[in-house]
Amino acid sequence: MYRDCLSEPIKPSDIIIICAGYRTREVALHFGIYLPIFGDKHSVFHVQNRRPAMSHLPLIADLASGIYLRPEGTGYIVGFSGNSEGEANDLEPNWPSWDVVWQLLYHRFPTLFYEAKMVGGWAGYYDSYELDHNTIIDHRDGIYFTTGFTGRGLMHSPAVGLAMSQLVLGEKPLFELDSYRLDRLPRLEKYVI
Ligand SMILES: Cc1cc2nc3c(=O)[nH]c(=O)nc-3n(C[C@H](O)[C@H](O)[C@H](O)COP(=O)(O)OP(=O)(O)OC[C@H]3O[C@@H](n4cnc5c(N)ncnc54)[C@H](O)[C@@H]3O)c2cc1C
Repeated sequence: MYRDCLSEPIKPSDIIIICAGYRTREVALHFGIYLPIFGDKHSVFHVQNRRPAMSHLPLIADLASGIYLRPEGTGYIVGFSGNSEGEANDLEPNWPSWDVVWQLLYHRFPTLFYEAKMVGGWAGYYDSYELDHNTIIDHRDGIYFTTGFTGRGLMHSPAVGLAMSQLVLGEKPLFELDSYRLDRLPRLEKYVI
């Protein structure tokens, strides 16, 4: 049955978990917790070429130039650490950077990207921890939070979900979680792609 949520007061919960991407920062501030997380806009391009995509390829990153690619449908998706734009107000992909991205792709994979055509793209915000670009899993006074995934959160999500549930239930964590505390020493991430 339809319930008019707005007419009922919101009951405070005993346990609060904040996992709102880079906006975890502003939600946590409501509880007096400061998280030095920033939204870093990254663009991804969809690329087609004349050859069928090599669908068996894993994600490949060229850490010297900062480009990465993986097969997607009949083409590839491609990203580039060099075209991140910080906390931009819009999520329009960084189209002008395509020329540089294409040159870097061609330099490393000339046969794959000789006749590459960019056919689309999108952008989103990485949730980046100012300290070291690594994940935070921690809590303060019954408020739990996890963020700072910097472009890797989908891959980490099963482990992070498990770790967070064990933290909330007071169970012994399967993973060592000290490295993910908010007040840890930095573990500087050399490559952010
Ligand atoms: C361009 C790009 C490429 C990426 N590529 C990869 C990749 O290849 N592999 C990988 O593992 N990861 C990748 N990532 C990272 C991955 O998308 C994130 O790490 C992951 O989505 C983080 O999950 P999350 O649930 O913590 O946050 P999000 O997915 O950001 O979800 C947060 C949710 O909170 C909601 N929210 C925000 N503010 C509030 C509020 N005030 N109140 C209520 N709800 C709110 C949002 O609407 C959103 O639904 C990429 C990210 C980007 C931007």
